[in-house]
Amino acid sequence: MGNARYEIYRNGQKIEAGYDVKAVCEQPDCKAQIDRGLAYLCGNEPGGDEYGCGGYFCANHLYLGSGAPVAEGLCANCMHRWQTDNSAEAWEEDWNESPQLGGMGEELRQLHGQCRLR
Ligand SMILES: [Zn+2]
Ligand SMILES: [Zn+2]
Repeated sequence: MGNARYEIYRNGQKIEAGYDVKAVCEQPDCKAQIDRGLAYLCGNEPGGDEYGCGGYFCANHLYLGSGAPVAEGLCANCMHRWQTDNSAEAWEEDWNESPQLGGMGEELRQLHGQCRLR
């Protein structure tokens, strides 16, 4: 198989990945033994993509149910980021479609902006 071991770039750093590469879960304080196969990947693409950071996490620290279209899941950080981003978009759609909220849109937007991470 071609993907047992390969090199990728993550955050400008070259690392080895693939299910033949032994690793430890990247969640701080977690010592679970995993490998760098796609089954432990946060996001869809090794090295990170628009959904995930490209980190490798054990089954306890990879979460499905975020709503992001990823194969295996997202780590806690990425899931939080994804949900925060998406709820912001959903809010904006609500404002645009709701005549009652029309005048308050900007105020709500600023309020909501304060609880966003970035
Ligand atoms: Zn992540
Ligand atoms: Zn873990």
